[in-house]
Amino acid sequence: MSFRVLPRLVAVLLGVALAPVLQAWDQEGHAIVNELALGSLPSEFPEFARTGANARRVVMLSSMPDRWRNVDPYLRQSGGSWSDHFIDLEELTQAGLDPKTVPSLRYNFLLLFAAGRVAYAEKFPAIDPARNLDHVREWPGFVPWAIAEHYHRLRSAFGYLKAYEDLGGTAEEIANAQADVVHAMGVLGHFVGDCAQPLHTTWNYNGWTADNPKGYTTWNGFHTWVDSGFITKAGIGRAELTARVARAEPLVLGPRADGRDPFFVATMDYILATWSQLEPLYQLEKDGLLGNRDRPVTPEGRAFFEKQLIAGGTMLGRIWLTAWKLAPVDTFLRNRLGQRQAGGSGKREKAAK
Ligand SMILES: [Zn+2]
Repeated sequence: MSFRVLPRLVAVLLGVALAPVLQAWDQEGHAIVNELALGSLPSEFPEFARTGANARRVVMLSSMPDRWRNVDPYLRQSGGSWSDHFIDLEELTQAGLDPKTVPSLRYNFLLLFAAGRVAYAEKFPAIDPARNLDHVREWPGFVPWAIAEHYHRLRSAFGYLKAYEDLGGTAEEIANAQADVVHAMGVLGHFVGDCAQPLHTTWNYNGWTADNPKGYTTWNGFHTWVDSGFITKAGIGRAELTARVARAEPLVLGPRADGRDPFFVATMDYILATWSQLEPLYQLEKDGLLGNRDRPVTPEGRAFFEKQLIAGGTMLGRIWLTAWKLAPVDTFLRNRLGQRQAGGSGKREKAAK
């Protein structure tokens, strides 16, 4: 989860031995969200993807997008190592946009945001060029679009798996298509998990930096504590949460009069629900109920984190289930496989292209 809290700076300040510990804590939150989601899937959901080694692989993959930071700065702009993990919702408002109506296609949003950023330039803090060598600070973060794009990739993976299953795919072809499904589930699971964490929805992501009439903490270790420290210190585990996650139901995704992708709208609603927990989170800290490295965690703080982890696991289970139910018909592949079955011109080597 902690993607922009300067883990390298933390390592420098506190000693490099601390860095692996922080990473392990981050993995824990993602693992819990994904395990809760796996446990919520109904028995009709393909068993290969929710049990055994593949389920463990989904959980492992759910932390991989944070590892993509190993190759920063190359993936920071749009490759998923940085700006796909969060959205600073306040920046949309500053640019004259409404999160409830922004375009569901990423590039359409880029055009609108860029225009709004220029029109309302005075509402944005100045950017220090020396701290913006990768040119990411102009942007608000793109996690709603990233989630939608990974969801549709998962739908596609289910679509071509079904083509192989229905039309004589070899055992190897089916196994490869199943591996793609597992990969898509785990990567998608990372970004949905990020959005269960209120600090991934705001520019007050690491201590309050906006106007601060309520006197919320400005502690620059806050994000790391929320991402990882609390879960470990509180000893939050899956067992006690699993029973509180409802059996997954598909998302209700009717066509929209405004033409926007209904899945994107459902994702933004989920993110806005998380954002609504931002001030309650800061208030918990202000009231001394969130604990820190020296102070104990409290039942109130624990309840807050459990609620967010359950919200993430519930949403992720619903997303996976919806992707499976709404898998597209892969017409191209089905035609090729049909030709192959009939002994026609479709070559096996070309079938997957
Ligand atoms: Zn992340």
